[in-house]
Amino acid sequence: MIHAIEAGNKPMVAAIEGFALGGGLELALGCHYRIAHSKARLGLPEVTLGLLPAAGGSQRLPRLIGVPAALDLIITGRHVTAAEALQLGIVDQVTDHHTVDAAVKFALSVAGRPLDARRISSYSCPPVSGDLDALFEEVMRKVRRGARGAIAPVACVQAVRAAATLPYARGMERERELMATLFTSGQARALQYSFFAQRAVSRWSTPSGARWDASAPKPVRKVAVIGLGTMGRGIAVALAQAGFPVVSVETQEKQLTEAKRAVSQMLERGAKRRGVAAPLDKMSYSSNIQAVADVDLVIEAVFEDMGLKKKIFQQLSAVCKPDALLCTNTSSLDVDQLASQTRNPELVVGMHFFAPAHVMKLLEVVYGPRSSPQALATAMQLGKKMGKVSVAVGNCPGFVGNRMLKAYVEQAFFLLEEGATPELVDSALEEFGFSMGFFKVSDLSGLDVGWKVRKEDGLALPGVSTGPSARIRQGRRYSPLGDLLCQRGRFGQKTGSGWYQYGKPGGRVATPDPWLHSFLEEYRAQHGLVPRRIDPQEVLERCLYALINEGFRILEDGIAAGPEDIDCIYVFGYGWPHYRGGPMFYAAMVGLPKVLERLEHYYRAHPDVPDLQPCSLLRRLVASGSPPVQKWKEAIKKLHSQL
Ligand code: NAD
Repeated sequence: MIHAIEAGNKPMVAAIEGFALGGGLELALGCHYRIAHSKARLGLPEVTLGLLPAAGGSQRLPRLIGVPAALDLIITGRHVTAAEALQLGIVDQVTDHHTVDAAVKFALSVAGRPLDARRISSYSCPPVSGDLDALFEEVMRKVRRGARGAIAPVACVQAVRAAATLPYARGMERERELMATLFTSGQARALQYSFFAQRAVSRWSTPSGARWDASAPKPVRKVAVIGLGTMGRGIAVALAQAGFPVVSVETQEKQLTEAKRAVSQMLERGAKRRGVAAPLDKMSYSSNIQAVADVDLVIEAVFEDMGLKKKIFQQLSAVCKPDALLCTNTSSLDVDQLASQTRNPELVVGMHFFAPAHVMKLLEVVYGPRSSPQALATAMQLGKKMGKVSVAVGNCPGFVGNRMLKAYVEQAFFLLEEGATPELVDSALEEFGFSMGFFKVSDLSGLDVGWKVRKEDGLALPGVSTGPSARIRQGRRYSPLGDLLCQRGRFGQKTGSGWYQYGKPGGRVATPDPWLHSFLEEYRAQHGLVPRRIDPQEVLERCLYALINEGFRILEDGIAAGPEDIDCIYVFGYGWPHYRGGPMFYAAMVGLPKVLERLEHYYRAHPDVPDLQPCSLLRRLVASGSPPVQKWKEAIKKLHSQL
């Protein structure tokens, strides 16, 4: 059809309103002219679904706007405004008026003019400055590095290269071939699943029967943030960027001064990037909690300390309007205990952001047993307005993301005890598609963070470093390796060494550390552990299947409503490779019987590691024929009703 339109002798003018993305833009590129409304957005986002623009888009766009600009749009899938489209030469005119009227007027003005010069497929790509081959090689190198195993961006470059080097008809053949490979790939399936999963999680429900379509959110006009440390600053920035007036309360004077400067800087940087004015006027600051008296919603982000947080919730309950929503950014503390400090516990929910909070897309919205559906709906809607992928989760230690991560982290430690090095574990995880392996992430965020949590949980005990009890805590296998490094002041990048060596405090380049290797050898000898060869496959199976197993437990407990919720959490908050869909989708792709068999195998080898014991939901799904991931929610409901 697009060819017929382009080949026709009647001038065709595309009138573009709203979105012309993917097929919409490809159709418009087949027309002889394009007129866009000033609010229109254009783009070829196929790459984000694991595909390429295969209705001629990869061949026409470079011919129209040149190779570098077309590569940018096709590889990133980014949307452009009508103004940028005009500047790039994608559209011929932008109007603020009725687009179709403008297009008709335009068509009449060009009627009778020859159309040969308007058929994009007959163009050659505009010449590039410099060597074309060198340009493509450089782009391909960059794309391969950034794609970390994703195949669609690479195929997009190959398709544009075909446009630049082959006649149109041959280029179209190449576009078709490349698309055929992508279309049947698991990556396209994963990315399309993820696209629908994001929509599915916005239609939240809870085990008590509360639902997104039966719960109206409360209006939120003004918001407060308590505590302007790492998280509070990012949250305040994200709120101001979403257009909310924000009052921020910080009691430490030095922190407050520093935070004011940092927040303004982040707002200015963000505004520059987006080409808008910095919303500095949205921010106000105070060291007195009384300043939050008129807000509709508060997000508390003080130290992770239950005593302190309880005190703050008592104060908030006394100071705030009685119908104000009180939210906590705690990573793991019991939301219900905080609710019990307030007059209206039904108005308390968790809003668990991820660092840096103005960048990371994920928000876990944690409902306690007493949170009202309206409170949940309000926090979910606020998250959406902040541009977050908001996922409603139940209240349990670690909620969904951190609860699953614990099982993964534990396996990484055990693998070191059994003979692996941080480099081996990290390279297996990076090869899988994570941007950083666990040990590099740990060095970046600081080993002391986990150490503090383990001390509070009664796991990291001072002085217990030898004898059998050193590796057993609370009745299960425990690895004190992280604690031992912390006791030696190795906190990661900030101290210049951790699992790797960084040269100096604050260094960023990880290099393998001979000290760490001999430390591991001594540790194994001291504990009678005989090192064995560990291959990357075992690293992946142990770390990922333990995490997935916990995911099944979470589904069984009703903490997450479905696999889509878990998968969005991992893709948008934990660096799980997007083109692998998320852990639960990945488990379905691997095959549930295989995941079950490997967990059984590892549990037999490590009976003191309960995380490796296959969860009964996994067994029951396998017994019921391993339904596809899209059917799990239904299957779980059925299994629950049979109990
Ligand atoms: P932080 O130590 O950087 O900041 C805490 C801030 O709270 C400090 O500036 C402190 O002065 C301030 N504060 C303490 N008592 C206060 C009070 N009574 N009134 C006002 N301000 C007060 O901590 P953070 O890393 O930003 O973490 C804050 C919360 O967010 C914690 O509950 C943490 O578990 C959670 N969280 C942290 C991360 C992360 O990666 N850092 C991620 C998600 C959630």
